Amino acid sequence: MAEKRLSHAYLLTGPEGPERENAARQLAAALLCAAPEPPCGRCRDCRKVREGVHPDVIWVRREKKDEQLRREILVGQIRQMTADAALAPNEAERKVYIVDQADRMNQQAQNALLKALEDPPGHACFILCAAAADALLPTVRSRCIRTDAGGRDQRDDGMSELAKGYLEAAASGDRAEIVLYCMNRAKLSREETEAFAGQVRDAVRDVLCGRARDPGLGRDGLFHLAELMDKTEDYLRHNVQPKQIFGLLAAETLR
Ligand SMILES: [Zn+2]
Repeated sequence: MAEKRLSHAYLLTGPEGPERENAARQLAAALLCAAPEPPCGRCRDCRKVREGVHPDVIWVRREKKDEQLRREILVGQIRQMTADAALAPNEAERKVYIVDQADRMNQQAQNALLKALEDPPGHACFILCAAAADALLPTVRSRCIRTDAGGRDQRDDGMSELAKGYLEAAASGDRAEIVLYCMNRAKLSREETEAFAGQVRDAVRDVLCGRARDPGLGRDGLFHLAELMDKTEDYLRHNVQPKQIFGLLAAETLR
Protein backbone atom coordinates (compact mmCIF):
# COMPACT_ATOMS: atom_id res chain seq x y z
CA MET A 1 0.00 0.00 0.00
CA ALA A 2 2.92 2.30 0.56
CA GLU A 3 3.73 2.18 -3.16
CA LYS A 4 2.68 5.43 -4.71
CA ARG A 5 2.23 3.90 -8.14
CA LEU A 6 -1.36 2.90 -8.03
CA SER A 7 -3.52 0.55 -9.95
CA HIS A 8 -7.07 1.26 -11.03
CA ALA A 9 -8.57 -1.94 -9.74
CA TYR A 10 -8.10 -4.08 -6.68
CA LEU A 11 -9.69 -7.33 -5.72
CA LEU A 12 -9.91 -7.70 -1.98
CA THR A 13 -10.65 -11.27 -1.03
CA GLY A 14 -11.70 -12.56 2.35
CA PRO A 15 -14.77 -13.61 4.28
CA GLU A 16 -17.53 -11.05 4.41
CA GLY A 17 -17.56 -8.98 7.57
CA PRO A 18 -16.10 -6.01 9.40
CA GLU A 19 -12.51 -7.09 8.79
CA ARG A 20 -12.96 -7.04 5.03
CA GLU A 21 -14.85 -3.73 5.16
CA ASN A 22 -12.12 -2.29 7.26
CA ALA A 23 -9.50 -3.50 4.82
CA ALA A 24 -11.46 -1.86 1.99
CA ARG A 25 -11.57 1.38 3.94
CA GLN A 26 -7.84 1.22 4.62
CA LEU A 27 -7.15 0.62 0.97
CA ALA A 28 -9.43 3.50 -0.03
CA ALA A 29 -7.62 5.75 2.44
CA ALA A 30 -4.29 4.61 1.01
CA LEU A 31 -5.51 5.55 -2.47
CA LEU A 32 -6.64 9.03 -1.42
CA CYS A 33 -4.06 9.98 1.22
CA ALA A 34 -1.34 12.30 -0.04
CA ALA A 35 1.15 11.55 2.76
CA PRO A 36 4.48 9.93 1.81
CA GLU A 37 3.43 6.66 3.45
CA PRO A 38 -0.29 6.39 2.97
CA PRO A 39 -2.61 5.90 4.74
CA CYS A 40 -1.27 8.25 7.39
CA GLY A 41 -4.50 8.05 9.39
CA ARG A 42 -4.33 11.73 10.31
CA CYS A 43 -5.01 13.82 7.21
CA ARG A 44 -8.44 15.05 6.19
CA ASP A 45 -8.84 12.32 3.58
CA CYS A 46 -7.86 9.51 5.97
CA ARG A 47 -10.17 10.82 8.67
CA LYS A 48 -13.13 11.20 6.36
CA VAL A 49 -12.66 7.74 4.90
CA ARG A 50 -12.48 6.27 8.39
CA GLU A 51 -15.62 8.11 9.45
CA GLY A 52 -17.42 6.99 6.32
CA VAL A 53 -18.09 10.55 5.13
CA HIS A 54 -15.60 10.97 2.30
CA PRO A 55 -17.52 12.21 -0.77
CA ASP A 56 -15.06 10.50 -3.10
CA VAL A 57 -15.46 7.04 -1.58
CA ILE A 58 -18.60 5.45 -2.96
CA TRP A 59 -19.89 2.08 -1.80
CA VAL A 60 -21.91 -0.07 -4.16
CA ARG A 61 -23.98 -2.68 -2.38
CA ARG A 62 -26.91 -4.90 -3.10
CA GLU A 63 -30.09 -2.86 -3.18
CA LYS A 64 -33.23 -3.54 -1.24
CA LYS A 65 -36.50 -4.51 -2.80
CA ASP A 66 -39.57 -4.88 -0.56
CA GLU A 67 -37.36 -4.68 2.54
CA GLN A 68 -35.27 -7.61 1.29
CA LEU A 69 -31.80 -7.34 -0.16
CA ARG A 70 -31.78 -8.31 -3.79
CA ARG A 71 -29.91 -11.48 -4.55
CA GLU A 72 -27.61 -9.79 -7.04
CA ILE A 73 -25.89 -6.53 -7.80
CA LEU A 74 -27.63 -5.41 -10.96
CA VAL A 75 -26.18 -4.07 -14.18
CA GLY A 76 -28.00 -0.77 -13.64
CA GLN A 77 -26.03 -0.16 -10.46
CA ILE A 78 -22.74 -0.77 -12.25
CA ARG A 79 -23.74 1.48 -15.15
CA GLN A 80 -24.65 4.19 -12.66
CA MET A 81 -21.30 3.74 -10.97
CA THR A 82 -19.30 3.98 -14.20
CA ALA A 83 -21.28 7.05 -15.29
CA ASP A 84 -20.46 8.67 -11.95
CA ALA A 85 -16.82 7.63 -12.33
CA ALA A 86 -16.57 9.77 -15.45
CA LEU A 87 -17.23 12.88 -13.36
CA ALA A 88 -14.40 14.68 -11.56
CA PRO A 89 -13.75 13.94 -7.88
CA ASN A 90 -15.33 16.21 -5.27
CA GLU A 91 -12.33 16.97 -3.13
CA ALA A 92 -9.64 14.32 -3.47
CA GLU A 93 -7.44 13.59 -6.46
CA ARG A 94 -9.29 10.37 -7.15
CA LYS A 95 -12.59 8.70 -6.66
CA VAL A 96 -12.73 5.26 -5.13
CA TYR A 97 -15.63 2.90 -5.76
CA ILE A 98 -15.94 -0.02 -3.38
CA VAL A 99 -18.13 -2.83 -4.66
CA ASP A 100 -19.04 -4.84 -1.59
CA GLN A 101 -19.98 -8.44 -2.33
CA ALA A 102 -18.65 -8.10 -5.86
CA ASP A 103 -19.23 -11.83 -6.16
CA ARG A 104 -22.95 -10.98 -6.22
CA MET A 105 -22.67 -9.10 -9.50
CA ASN A 106 -24.52 -10.99 -12.16
CA GLN A 107 -22.84 -11.66 -15.48
CA GLN A 108 -24.30 -8.58 -17.14
CA ALA A 109 -23.10 -6.41 -14.28
CA GLN A 110 -19.61 -7.92 -14.49
CA ASN A 111 -19.47 -7.25 -18.21
CA ALA A 112 -20.46 -3.63 -17.62
CA LEU A 113 -17.73 -3.38 -15.01
CA LEU A 114 -15.23 -4.96 -17.36
CA LYS A 115 -15.71 -2.10 -19.82
CA ALA A 116 -14.86 0.38 -17.08
CA LEU A 117 -11.79 -1.64 -16.08
CA GLU A 118 -10.57 -1.81 -19.67
CA ASP A 119 -10.81 1.92 -20.11
CA PRO A 120 -10.95 3.53 -16.68
CA PRO A 121 -11.43 7.27 -16.29
CA GLY A 122 -8.06 8.64 -15.11
CA HIS A 123 -9.14 9.46 -11.60
CA ALA A 124 -11.29 6.44 -10.79
CA CYS A 125 -10.24 3.40 -8.76
CA PHE A 126 -12.30 0.32 -8.07
CA ILE A 127 -12.08 -1.99 -5.09
CA LEU A 128 -13.96 -5.24 -5.50
CA CYS A 129 -14.63 -7.15 -2.28
CA ALA A 130 -15.35 -10.83 -2.67
CA ALA A 131 -15.23 -14.01 -0.64
CA ALA A 132 -13.23 -15.74 -3.35
CA ALA A 133 -11.63 -14.55 -6.56
CA ASP A 134 -13.03 -17.36 -8.69
CA ALA A 135 -16.56 -16.02 -8.27
CA LEU A 136 -15.61 -13.30 -10.74
CA LEU A 137 -15.17 -13.59 -14.49
CA PRO A 138 -11.53 -14.33 -15.38
CA THR A 139 -11.51 -11.22 -17.57
CA VAL A 140 -12.48 -9.08 -14.58
CA ARG A 141 -10.10 -10.86 -12.22
CA SER A 142 -7.12 -10.48 -14.50
CA ARG A 143 -7.47 -6.70 -14.50
CA CYS A 144 -7.32 -6.43 -10.74
CA ILE A 145 -4.47 -6.46 -8.27
CA ARG A 146 -5.28 -9.11 -5.69
CA THR A 147 -4.97 -8.41 -2.00
CA ASP A 148 -6.08 -10.52 0.90
CA ALA A 149 -8.28 -8.81 3.46
CA GLY A 150 -6.95 -11.23 6.06
CA GLY A 151 -3.65 -9.35 6.11
CA ARG A 152 -4.64 -6.83 8.72
CA ASP A 153 -2.95 -3.47 8.75
CA GLN A 154 0.10 -4.45 10.74
CA ARG A 155 1.66 -1.72 12.84
CA ASP A 156 5.17 -2.26 14.08
CA ASP A 157 3.98 -4.01 17.20
CA GLY A 158 1.47 -6.09 15.27
CA MET A 159 -1.68 -4.33 16.39
CA SER A 160 -4.30 -2.40 14.50
CA GLU A 161 -4.79 1.20 15.47
CA LEU A 162 -8.19 1.08 17.12
CA ALA A 163 -7.32 -1.88 19.30
CA LYS A 164 -3.96 -0.41 20.17
CA GLY A 165 -5.45 2.83 21.54
CA TYR A 166 -8.00 0.95 23.59
CA LEU A 167 -5.57 -1.58 25.01
CA GLU A 168 -3.17 1.16 25.95
CA ALA A 169 -5.90 3.15 27.65
CA ALA A 170 -6.99 0.00 29.49
CA ALA A 171 -3.42 -0.78 30.51
CA SER A 172 -2.89 2.75 31.82
CA GLY A 173 -5.40 1.99 34.59
CA ASP A 174 -6.42 5.64 34.37
CA ARG A 175 -10.19 5.92 34.47
CA ALA A 176 -10.22 9.40 32.96
CA GLU A 177 -8.17 8.26 30.00
CA ILE A 178 -10.51 5.35 29.36
CA VAL A 179 -13.61 7.51 29.66
CA LEU A 180 -12.12 10.01 27.25
CA TYR A 181 -11.18 7.26 24.82
CA CYS A 182 -14.69 5.82 24.91
CA MET A 183 -16.37 9.22 24.65
CA ASN A 184 -14.40 9.94 21.52
CA ARG A 185 -15.68 6.75 19.94
CA ALA A 186 -19.34 7.05 20.88
CA LYS A 187 -20.09 8.35 17.37
CA LEU A 188 -18.72 5.32 15.56
CA SER A 189 -21.20 3.50 13.37
CA ARG A 190 -22.39 0.01 14.17
CA GLU A 191 -20.04 -1.42 11.55
CA GLU A 192 -17.11 0.44 12.97
CA THR A 193 -18.00 -0.66 16.49
CA GLU A 194 -18.11 -4.24 15.23
CA ALA A 195 -14.72 -3.72 13.64
CA PHE A 196 -13.44 -2.24 16.87
CA ALA A 197 -14.59 -5.25 18.91
CA GLY A 198 -13.08 -7.61 16.33
CA GLN A 199 -9.77 -5.80 16.38
CA VAL A 200 -9.58 -5.77 20.18
CA ARG A 201 -10.38 -9.47 20.20
CA ASP A 202 -7.65 -10.17 17.62
CA ALA A 203 -5.17 -8.01 19.52
CA VAL A 204 -5.93 -9.81 22.79
CA ARG A 205 -5.45 -13.15 21.05
CA ASP A 206 -2.19 -11.98 19.50
CA VAL A 207 -0.84 -10.86 22.88
CA LEU A 208 -1.94 -14.10 24.52
CA CYS A 209 -0.21 -16.08 21.76
CA GLY A 210 2.93 -14.01 22.11
CA ARG A 211 2.57 -12.46 18.65
CA ALA A 212 2.24 -8.94 20.04
CA ARG A 213 3.62 -7.11 23.01
CA ASP A 214 1.46 -6.88 26.16
CA PRO A 215 0.91 -3.17 26.81
CA GLY A 216 0.74 -3.99 30.53
CA LEU A 217 -2.61 -5.72 30.96
CA GLY A 218 -1.46 -9.09 32.23
CA ARG A 219 -3.33 -12.32 31.66
CA ASP A 220 -6.33 -11.45 33.84
CA GLY A 221 -6.67 -8.06 32.21
CA LEU A 222 -6.55 -9.64 28.75
CA PHE A 223 -9.21 -12.21 29.61
CA HIS A 224 -11.36 -9.49 31.09
CA LEU A 225 -11.16 -7.54 27.82
CA ALA A 226 -11.94 -10.66 25.79
CA GLU A 227 -15.08 -11.11 27.92
CA LEU A 228 -16.01 -7.47 27.46
CA MET A 229 -15.73 -7.86 23.68
CA ASP A 230 -18.03 -10.91 23.89
CA LYS A 231 -20.52 -8.69 25.65
CA THR A 232 -20.01 -5.92 23.10
CA GLU A 233 -20.71 -8.25 20.19
CA ASP A 234 -23.73 -9.61 21.97
CA TYR A 235 -25.10 -6.09 22.51
CA LEU A 236 -24.48 -5.27 18.86
CA ARG A 237 -26.49 -8.31 17.85
CA HIS A 238 -29.31 -7.00 20.04
CA ASN A 239 -29.18 -3.58 18.41
CA VAL A 240 -27.73 -1.72 21.35
CA GLN A 241 -26.38 1.59 20.05
CA PRO A 242 -22.61 2.20 19.85
CA LYS A 243 -23.01 5.18 22.16
CA GLN A 244 -24.36 2.95 24.93
CA ILE A 245 -21.78 0.29 24.23
CA PHE A 246 -18.93 2.73 24.67
CA GLY A 247 -20.65 3.94 27.84
CA LEU A 248 -20.51 0.38 29.08
CA LEU A 249 -16.87 0.04 28.09
CA ALA A 250 -16.04 3.31 29.86
CA ALA A 251 -17.55 1.87 33.04
CA GLU A 252 -16.32 -1.71 32.82
CA THR A 253 -12.92 -1.63 31.18
CA LEU A 254 -11.26 -1.33 34.59
CA ARG A 255 -12.27 -4.16 36.86
ZN1 LIG B 1 -3.68 10.43 5.17
